[in-house]
Amino acid sequence: MNCYDCAQKGKTVPATAVCRHCGAAVCAEHAHVVTAEQITHNAGLGVSTLALPARRITCITCYGAEHSGSPAASPGPHHHLPHLGGRQ
Ligand SMILES: [Zn+2]
Ligand SMILES: [Zn+2]
Repeated sequence: MNCYDCAQKGKTVPATAVCRHCGAAVCAEHAHVVTAEQITHNAGLGVSTLALPARRITCITCYGAEHSGSPAASPGPHHHLPHLGGRQ
């Protein structure tokens, strides 16, 4: 499997991860790894069953969608978003 985002630009780069949202294969450059620190509980009473850091990997597109506050899947009410492709 090759990186989907690289393929969009005409490059062939072996993928090293898979986006958990859209399932696209991405290379290390296009993968966005998030270590969820907020899972750790600081209860203070010695019980920390969720202390192990979780990890999730998304592609650049899904990461941007997550942090834009408007999922790309919503089809109607908002105006057409400018395409992110021209910004790099
Ligand atoms: Zn890539
Ligand atoms: Zn994705």
